[in-house]
Amino acid sequence: MTDFVLKNTYSSLSSSELIKLEENNMDHKRFKHCIGVSLTARKLAHLNNYDEDKAALAGFIHDYAKQVSVADFRKTIQTQGFDQELLNWGPAIWHGIVGTYFIKRDLKITDPEILTAVRRHTTGDTEMTMLDKIVYMADYIEPGRDFVGVDTARKITFANLDEGVGFQLAHTLNFLIGNRNKVYPRTLAAYNVWSIKDNEEKN
Ligand code: GDP
Ligand code: FE
Ligand code: FE
Repeated sequence: MTDFVLKNTYSSLSSSELIKLEENNMDHKRFKHCIGVSLTARKLAHLNNYDEDKAALAGFIHDYAKQVSVADFRKTIQTQGFDQELLNWGPAIWHGIVGTYFIKRDLKITDPEILTAVRRHTTGDTEMTMLDKIVYMADYIEPGRDFVGVDTARKITFANLDEGVGFQLAHTLNFLIGNRNKVYPRTLAAYNVWSIKDNEEKN
């Protein structure tokens, strides 16, 4: 059990019911990550004059579907009205986009702003709301994250949320290309919006 609490006005379930469902849907390491993202989202919301409780809830549930099985994801894509092109991707891309289905079904959260932030949390998007950016960045810099450059990412993000988004997208793209992974088109489109330095003469 955990002493973590949420102020929840977005689900018919209580805060403790939400926390229990989340905890039962993932391993302990992932659950700790979700708490870290929630606390960081709250902090970023405070710094950017956004609703702290809403950001904390969105951050907490962003990876609810992270450990759903491939078979369940595929069945959901095939039967719940998702673009069938998604079948060409895998859990890294599915857990946000298709994860919204499990969040609505199990956690009874239907707020469109929260669901959009979950949908966009892995790839980013060309258009991002304040909540989208908060969850996207909190996921990247929460206290449990440990990668080369995370301290720079934290410094940049706490100073300027949009700069953080540009930083993360550039680093993610660099990482994907370095590993010769497939780039989801939305990740690339988002990079072109958020990461480009002001060097118009070279465009
Ligand atoms: P996590 O769920 O907390 O581990 O973090 P994310 O949801 O941000 O990312 C999940 C994984 O998706 C990471 O390993 C990212 O590198 C990966 N990812 C992000 N964008 C893309 C993409 O465009 N293509 C692919 N193949 N993977 C991506
Ligand atoms: Fe994720
Ligand atoms: Fe995450």
